[in-house]
Amino acid sequence: MAKIRFQALADVQGRKKVSVEAPSSKVSDYYGELSFDLDTMRATLAPQAFEKVKYAIEKGKKIDEETADAVASAAKNWAMEHGVTHYTHWFQPLTGSTAEKHDSFFDAGSGIEKFKGSALVQQEPDASSFPNGGIRSTFEARGYTAWDPSSPLFIYGRTLCIPTIFVAYTGEALDNKAPLLKAVDAVDRAATRVAKYFDRNVSRVSASLGCEQEYFAVDKSLFAARPDLVMAGRTVFGHNPARGQQLDDHYFGSIPNRVFDFMRDFETECHRLGIPVSTRHNEVAPSQFEVAPRFEDINVAVDHNQLMMDLMSKVAERHDLKILFHEKPFAGLNGSGKHNNWSLITNTGVNLFQPSSSARENLQFLTFVVCTIKAVYDYADLLRASIASAGNDHRLGANEAPPAIMSIFLGSTLTGVLDELETNGNIKVEKGDNMYMKLGIDKIPEIILDNTDRNRTSPFAFTGNKFEFRAVGSDANSAQPMAALNLIVAEVLTKFADELDKEIEGGKDKRLAMVEILRRYITESKAVRFEGDGYSEGWVVEAEKRGLSNIKNTARALNAYLAEDIVKLFEKHGVLTHTEIDARVEILLENYIMKVQIESRIMGDLALNHIIPTAISYQNKLIGNAKGLKELGVDNAAVVATIEEISGYIADIKNGVTAMVEARKKANNIEDSAEKAAAYCDEVKEAYFEKIRYAVDKLELLVDDEDWPLVKYRELLFLR
Ligand code: ADP
Ligand code: MG
Repeated sequence: MAKIRFQALADVQGRKKVSVEAPSSKVSDYYGELSFDLDTMRATLAPQAFEKVKYAIEKGKKIDEETADAVASAAKNWAMEHGVTHYTHWFQPLTGSTAEKHDSFFDAGSGIEKFKGSALVQQEPDASSFPNGGIRSTFEARGYTAWDPSSPLFIYGRTLCIPTIFVAYTGEALDNKAPLLKAVDAVDRAATRVAKYFDRNVSRVSASLGCEQEYFAVDKSLFAARPDLVMAGRTVFGHNPARGQQLDDHYFGSIPNRVFDFMRDFETECHRLGIPVSTRHNEVAPSQFEVAPRFEDINVAVDHNQLMMDLMSKVAERHDLKILFHEKPFAGLNGSGKHNNWSLITNTGVNLFQPSSSARENLQFLTFVVCTIKAVYDYADLLRASIASAGNDHRLGANEAPPAIMSIFLGSTLTGVLDELETNGNIKVEKGDNMYMKLGIDKIPEIILDNTDRNRTSPFAFTGNKFEFRAVGSDANSAQPMAALNLIVAEVLTKFADELDKEIEGGKDKRLAMVEILRRYITESKAVRFEGDGYSEGWVVEAEKRGLSNIKNTARALNAYLAEDIVKLFEKHGVLTHTEIDARVEILLENYIMKVQIESRIMGDLALNHIIPTAISYQNKLIGNAKGLKELGVDNAAVVATIEEISGYIADIKNGVTAMVEARKKANNIEDSAEKAAAYCDEVKEAYFEKIRYAVDKLELLVDDEDWPLVKYRELLFLR
């Protein structure tokens, strides 16, 4: 059995350098050449049609039939010049990846290539196989995808891809994008309303997102020789390498050439698609890397992140690599996240989270910061639910990961400002006073956080001019957490504006009323602010005292979506209906159950088919040895002890797997998805995974390296 492992290791030795050539030494020569963006549209559309499209995109308005025809025709010609033969509606079903269905431009009836506006605007994918949480029964598998003009068309391979949302005929959203777009609308409405108190010229606020994507890269033969990586995306067994993360990070400072070539290659592909990446070279764990595109409009950033992940996997094939997006592919090493850097920016170009030297703007800055803090405090459980997945459960709270407790880090400067505002609560401001000065908010130092004022243990951190939601999992579609975040901030901003309007109507000075409300919000939400070490045991205790939730697993976390006030919140802002939420939770629970089930099965299979036979055959060798020693009258106590030790672990594994299979059977009989998920979590995963793994990993240390069937951590991780 060890043959596969050694063949894979031999493959790695034989890897040849794959040369990578960018189309030109100047990125600007090819940047965005595969994206049908505004510039390309301007160049290919009649001026009138272009103005209409641009207007529709900017205002989120519908595009009329005639204009859609013009866009379709221009896009077809542009795509065909690039050798494209097919088009597809590209969408993000709730499974977590992207989906497409390809149609040819060629129309056999007329014998020419055709692409009409109607085909651009709407399609009916045969989507019966996508999860719908009971919204659609399979015999009524009819939904449609609808063009989202705010995200540009792009060429992928030989296909023109049209970013779309995916909706059931009954109107319910069946994808990740539709609710995101609605949440972004909600935050636009609310934030614009609030920003107008400060500047009447603001007519639109857009949300921005920059995703830092972490990932592991492993050799493809080594990957293929690990059935657990293939099936579950993570290693269920594997002893820590002698040289792990305990060593200084610099130890891994030089990127292996193969990975470097891969990075350059996929960076070029990203640039051709107009994805603004500049690859990063920092590694946290061995074989772990990061890429961070520049931030963009949230909707486009989400599409680009999904596309980029797909692209990375494709480009990796050329380099005989496999990219692991799982949140915790290796026990004992850092997990992978997707830090969601988020901000709100007005159409007048003001980042609402950017402190400024003007006192008036600073009150605005504080308003947005404080409302965001309150949103995270009020809706921490929803935020937690929005990042819940089987994979992320392995990461949250594990080694060097953000804990499952939602808290906010602000840094000392901003903390000082909020504290002062809070304690100045009793200062009486008279007419004619310089209110800002009296309250200590006349000047907020430009908060540029340096690395000493960075808290990498916080799940949600203010980082100078944006918030960084760090608890998002590397494999997640950011649409989900971003829909939740924008929704809750929209809600608190709306509440703020409602309260403020009332005070103003009652004759109160606008700014004074603002400060009063903010002060109250600061006090109310104080418990969620935490500047200390989020990974420490002490924080868990402290958070509990503060009444903060610490929901450790997906099976429980998803409940938050179903709470009455949360359903009302989603409905109030038109983001999701009750039916849609029910369906989503059902899908997410099913997905969780399936993932744990797969992990459990692969664990059992490997343990019984690979590990135990290997251990037994090695044990037999030892038995022969022990007998021989005895015949010769040599002390064989050490060998006998090892035989006994191995026997013990074999028994642990065998008993563990048998009991785990029983636990699965019991769980499978549960009807209710939430209960079933909880059973899979507690009775299957928590009860047996660690126990079985412990015995297997011990055997890895005992059994002859020549016989061990699974590629070892040190072999997987120290890529050359
Ligand atoms: P790090 O957190 O590692 O210091 P950076 O400061 O470079 O990383 O930023 C990480 C990400 O945040 C990048 O994608 C960057 O474009 C994005 N970002 C920067 N400013 C904003 C902003 N105002 N809104 C949203 N994202 C932003
Ligand atoms: Mg960061």
